[in-house]
Amino acid sequence: MATSISILCYHQVAPQLPPGFERYSVTTAQFAAQLRWLALAGYHTISFDQMLAARAGNGSLPAKSVIITFDDGLRDCIHYAPPLLVSYKMTATFFLVAGLMGGASAWLAQEQAPVMPIASWQQARDLLAAGMSCGAHGLTHTRLAATPALQCEEELVQSRRLLESELGSPIRHIAYPFGSYNVAVRAQVMAAGYATACTTQKGHVALTDDVFSLRRVPVYSFENIVDFAFRVRSGYSFREWLRSRYQKKTA
Ligand SMILES: [Zn+2]
Repeated sequence: MATSISILCYHQVAPQLPPGFERYSVTTAQFAAQLRWLALAGYHTISFDQMLAARAGNGSLPAKSVIITFDDGLRDCIHYAPPLLVSYKMTATFFLVAGLMGGASAWLAQEQAPVMPIASWQQARDLLAAGMSCGAHGLTHTRLAATPALQCEEELVQSRRLLESELGSPIRHIAYPFGSYNVAVRAQVMAAGYATACTTQKGHVALTDDVFSLRRVPVYSFENIVDFAFRVRSGYSFREWLRSRYQKKTA
């Protein structure tokens, strides 16, 4: 039984790193090497539903469990990542921006990052057919903690409805856009019918952790496979891990 789970957080996978978005992207070659390492090291991909079932005492998890997630539904990543995942018999959850499907990542313009195409609904349906899962990532990718309550509710409720009607499949999981949430947003996510919510806080997840503030393990193109392995095993980079050990000792 896994005592802790790495929820890996990706955004973009493409043959070349998109200029201006290198930090949040990996190349297809890097992604393939990371999947190969996970397989050789004995990791198994699980879904959020499997994690919840194990938490409720229904079934156990592999000793080494990871959940692979992709935020934003970028077209390239939805094109390039699934065939690699399938070739390693792995699955992933894609958090989609429901109101921008078939459009572009307009929110990145304010972040001084390139605006990139977002996958179509048909591509999202193809993901499900390939054995992947889909979750929500808001309607328009706003910072929910800075959004008025009514509009926040709309982002949470309408994105779920739209995804469910277009995909014909229940949507139970969400990733907070920009990792932005607070106590009020967390309560709205629960009220909107979601069963889990992912943040951008770093670290592993224990089965006893709050499922509406799940930590994740970011993956960066500028780190090598040894760095990746350290992050999967510990939840942190080596430097962050050292710092957390030091802080625990001096606390
Ligand atoms: Zn996002």
